[in-house]
Amino acid sequence: MALIVQKFGGSSVANAARVMAAARKAIKAKQAGNQVIVVVSARGDTTDDLIQLAREITENPPAREMDMLLATGEQISIALLAMAIATLGEKAVSLTGAQVGIVTDSFHTKARIKSISTNRMRMALMEGNIAIVAGFQGMDEKENITTLGRGGSDTTAVALAAVMKTEGVEGNKVDCEIYTDVDGIYTTDPRLVPEARKIDFISYDEMLELSSVGAGVMHSRSIEFARKFDVPVLVCSSFGEATGTWIIPEQSWMADSPVRGVALVKDEARIAILDVPDRPGISHQFFTALASSAIVVDMIAQNVSRNGKTTIGFTVPTEDLKNTLAILAPLAEGLGAIVENSGEVSKVSIVGVGMRNHTGVAQRMFKAIAKEGIHLRMITTADIKISVLVEKSEGIQALRAVHQEFGLGQIETKGIQGDRYSSLGAGYTDLVSITNRLPNMEDILVTEVSVESEQGRITVFQLPDLPGTCSSIFGSIAQAGIVVDMIVQNVHSQGVDLSFSVLAGNLPFALEITEKWIGIHAKNATVAADPDITAIHVHGVGMRTHTGVASKMFGVLANLGININMINTSEMKISVVVDQDKAGMAVNALKEVFQIS
Ligand code: ADP
Ligand code: ASP
Ligand code: MG
Repeated sequence: MALIVQKFGGSSVANAARVMAAARKAIKAKQAGNQVIVVVSARGDTTDDLIQLAREITENPPAREMDMLLATGEQISIALLAMAIATLGEKAVSLTGAQVGIVTDSFHTKARIKSISTNRMRMALMEGNIAIVAGFQGMDEKENITTLGRGGSDTTAVALAAVMKTEGVEGNKVDCEIYTDVDGIYTTDPRLVPEARKIDFISYDEMLELSSVGAGVMHSRSIEFARKFDVPVLVCSSFGEATGTWIIPEQSWMADSPVRGVALVKDEARIAILDVPDRPGISHQFFTALASSAIVVDMIAQNVSRNGKTTIGFTVPTEDLKNTLAILAPLAEGLGAIVENSGEVSKVSIVGVGMRNHTGVAQRMFKAIAKEGIHLRMITTADIKISVLVEKSEGIQALRAVHQEFGLGQIETKGIQGDRYSSLGAGYTDLVSITNRLPNMEDILVTEVSVESEQGRITVFQLPDLPGTCSSIFGSIAQAGIVVDMIVQNVHSQGVDLSFSVLAGNLPFALEITEKWIGIHAKNATVAADPDITAIHVHGVGMRTHTGVASKMFGVLANLGININMINTSEMKISVVVDQDKAGMAVNALKEVFQIS
C-alpha cells in the first residue's frame, strides 16, 4: 500500500466549500487504496490577520507568544477538515504538530525541524483514519509551541513524507501532493508575467534554487527535504482536475534548455563594505557576526583587492537591514572600513541545469536587461543559477525581459500522465542513508568538497556604470568562444568592479579581449589578471539558507591564513576562489571540518 501526503494551502481551505472539496480529494486518494496523511495551512488570510491582532497589542510581541498565536490558524483548519471528512462518511483524526511529535529547535517563528515521531500517525492510519496534521507548527524540547516560518506548511508536508518514507511505510512508496491556487510550477510567477508557462517536470535542484530566489510557490526548505530524502512532489491546483508539475530527481533531458525558470525577489537591501583591509579572515568576521544573529546573507560579491583594500557587497532581507547595519558598524569602524547602505533592490535570477553545458547564458541575460536600459547593481553566478540586482522599481520589467529572452513563454507543455514517481530516484539511496545519520532532520548535509584547478581570473576596476557594460564585455568574450565560469560584479560609490574566471589556458586571450574592450569603451578602467587560481566547491543541500555553512567555510580558510578571492553561494554549492598553492591545504581542512572522507 502506498502512502500519499496531501497538503492544502490557505486558499484551498479558505471557505466551507473548499474545505469540503479538500475532504473529497483526501477521501478519493484513500478509496483508491492508499494511506493518506493530509497537512493543512491556516485558512485564507488567517495568519496575516493573527499577526495584525498581535500588532494591535504591541509592535514587539514576545516570539514565544507569537508562535502560540500563529499556531491557532492551522488548528482551526485541521478540525474543520476532519469534520468535513466525517460528514462524508470516512474516518479522520486531526492532530496538532505537537501531538504528532514534530520536535523543532527553539528559534521561535523560524524554527527548524529536529525530529518527527511516526507512532501517532501510524496508529491513526492503522485504525483506518485519514490523519490530518496541522502544518507550519511543532514544539521544541521544552514543549513550547513553535512555527517554521511563513509558508512553512509545505515543509511540514514534505518532512512528514520523508520520515514516513524512511521508517513508516513498507516498500517506501511515498508521494507528496501539494494542492494550491495554481495548477503547477510555472516558468515564473504567472501573477507577475502573464506569458509564464506551466512546466511538467522540474528537478529538485532547480526547484530548490528557484524557491530560494523568490518562487514563493514552494517553501524552499520543503524542497531541501524532498532532495535529501528523495520525496517526489506533485504540485497541482486544488480547484480542478488539471494536471500539475512533478518535482523529481534530475533527468538528462532537463539540460536541453539553458534556462528552465526565472524568479524575482521584489525587495532586498543592498550593503557595500568599502575599504576593507584585504587580510585573511576579515570577511569571515562580518559574516559570522551576522550568522550568529540568524541573518541570512544572500548575494555576496567580494572582489579582489586593489591597493590592499577590498570591497564586499551583499544583500539581506529588507527587514534585517536595521539589525545588519547595527551589527556591522562597530566591526567596520575597528578596521577603518566604510559601511554603505546601497538602497533597496530587486533580484532577478535564472535557473536551469542546462546552464552547466550551454555557453553564453549569462551574456544573454545581461543583454536582455541592458536592452531595457536597466543597470545591473550586482551579479553573482553559481552552478545552475545566475542572479542580478536591479533597482527595485525595475524588477518586474527585468524579469519579463529575461523570461522572453530565453523563450520561456513558448515552452512546450505536454501535461503529465497519471504516473507516480515514488521509486524514481534510485541514485539517491546513499543520500538517504547519510541523512538518516544526521542528528536533526533539517540539519545541513554536506556531501562533497571538490576542486577545479587550472583556472585564471580577470578583474576590471572602475568600469563605467552604464546599462550594457557587462553585456558588451561578455559579448566580446563569448564571440571569441571562451567559456566564462564564475562572475562577480559589484557596484558601489567608488565604482563598478567585475571579476570573472576562465580556464587558465584561455586567460591570455581573454585578457587581450578585455584590454581591447577597455581601450575602446572604458579609458579609466584598470585590469588585473591572475593565472594561478583554484575554485573550491563545498556541495550539499540547502547550503545558502543554513547560515552556518558559509561562515564555517570562511572560518576554516581564515584560520589557515588563506585569502578568499571570489565567493559564490547557491543552495547546492558554496564556491570560493583561492590561490592555487593554497588549494590543497584548504581542501583537506574543509574535508575535515565537514567530516568527508
Ligand atoms: P499556498 O497558500 O497554497 O501555499 P502560495 O500563495 O504559497 O499558495 O503559492 C502559490 C502562489 O505562488 C501562486 O498563486 C503564484 O502567484 C506564486 N508563484 C510564484 N512563483 C511561481 C511559479 N514559478 N509557479 C507557480 N506559482 C508561482
Ligand atoms: N499559515 C502559514 C502562513 O501563512 C503557513 C503556510 O501557509 O504555509 O505562512
Ligand atoms: Mg505556500
